[in-house]
Amino acid sequence: MSRYVSTRDSSISAEFRSVVFRGLAPDGGLYMPTETPMLSNALESCGSDISFVELSERVLPLIFPDDIDERTAADVARTAFPFAPQIHQLHERLSVLELFHGPSCAFKDFGASFLAHMMEHYLGKGGEKAVILTATSGDTGSAVARAFHGRDNLEVVILYPSGRVSHLQEQQLTTLGGNVCALEVQGSFDDCQAMVKEVFQNEQARERYSLTSANSINLGRLLPQALYYLYAAVRLRPIAPEPVFSVPSGNFGNVCAGVLAWRWGMPARRFVAATNANDVVPEYLASGVYRPRPSVQTLSNAMDVGNPSNFERLASIFASLEMPMTEMMESEVADDEQTLSEIRRVHSSYDYFVCPHTATGTFAAEQYLSRNPNAHVVTLATAHPAKFVETVERAVGIAPEIPERLAESLQLPKQATLVPPNSTGLLEFLADRYGDSFRRSSV
Ligand SMILES: *Cc1c(COP(=O)(O)O)cnc(C)c1O
Repeated sequence: MSRYVSTRDSSISAEFRSVVFRGLAPDGGLYMPTETPMLSNALESCGSDISFVELSERVLPLIFPDDIDERTAADVARTAFPFAPQIHQLHERLSVLELFHGPSCAFKDFGASFLAHMMEHYLGKGGEKAVILTATSGDTGSAVARAFHGRDNLEVVILYPSGRVSHLQEQQLTTLGGNVCALEVQGSFDDCQAMVKEVFQNEQARERYSLTSANSINLGRLLPQALYYLYAAVRLRPIAPEPVFSVPSGNFGNVCAGVLAWRWGMPARRFVAATNANDVVPEYLASGVYRPRPSVQTLSNAMDVGNPSNFERLASIFASLEMPMTEMMESEVADDEQTLSEIRRVHSSYDYFVCPHTATGTFAAEQYLSRNPNAHVVTLATAHPAKFVETVERAVGIAPEIPERLAESLQLPKQATLVPPNSTGLLEFLADRYGDSFRRSSV
């Protein structure tokens, strides 16, 4: 059954399997679910001490009725999420939902891990293989690399710009080996993206290697992100029956997942999208005019997006509700100065380290609380502070402790293939490495 349609043309529909392998809809739109699962009863029946895996097990069959049945839900939840969110209460009115306890220490681990699990599941049935081709400026690549590492029938090729990712990020991308291949491109991130795009437009190459992407517009990454909002809402119900969520936002996928969770019956008073100087959406919420522009570089670089792809999804949700976006959403902007002073403030007030992205979220939360003193805000902590150790140390004067899984990757030897910044080099690499070993995928 086709439960997913393009944001641009609702006659373009697909089932979940095709949605995860295709990423983008054929008309250039983004896939959205047509059904609205009703989760209120399931959530009400959850005790406020429920674990993340238990909660996922209960709601996954409601969110994915055709693809995850009640019998397999426990298995999916356990295999896809061997890590869990944690809630840290900063003060009476502000909780931090820590999403950085996964393998790459960022929230993208949740979506990437679920996507990898589902792809492996679908391919396993037919003995087919696929190559995940993705360009990264840092964070996405490491989540994808870790999530797909060691998965059956899946190969991963990650392109990153030489000398333009942090040492830690490079180590995370290049030390896994096995089915994960890192290409160090002698060019910029834009070159990396252009190379991937060109190869995807090459029909022959795409079919020959069953190329697929795992980027953040993939609905298979976005939908599972609703799970941690549901988890926070249930766990915090005794102190916050109708929480406000403050979400550090770049491509607006994370906040979109929260809005979907609310659509499905999760109690929420409001969503505050926190951005850095890339303030296209805040400007839209204030003026009603959407004016995309080139991104500017900031300290919270995973949020440096000048034309957020998931805006289209948010617009489609509120259009279907015939509700102005501003009824449920507002935003706050924190520039680099404010980000640094917020990292410092949170550390000195609460003895707690936040990464620069999370800092925009706590900043936005405090702004909201100053106007709505009786609210309870949940800020999503999107990355571990140690991933951005230079910035955090600059703000606070001392460095956060590095978790073992990050420290380990610093010890391993780098394995990367240097390639020129053009698609010819990438095609040669694919032919060398994968040759004809691929059967055509049916997706
Ligand atoms: C990707 C990322 C973001 C932005 O999330 P979107 O879903 O693109 O809005 C924020 N913080 C960190 C650490 C990220 O990696």
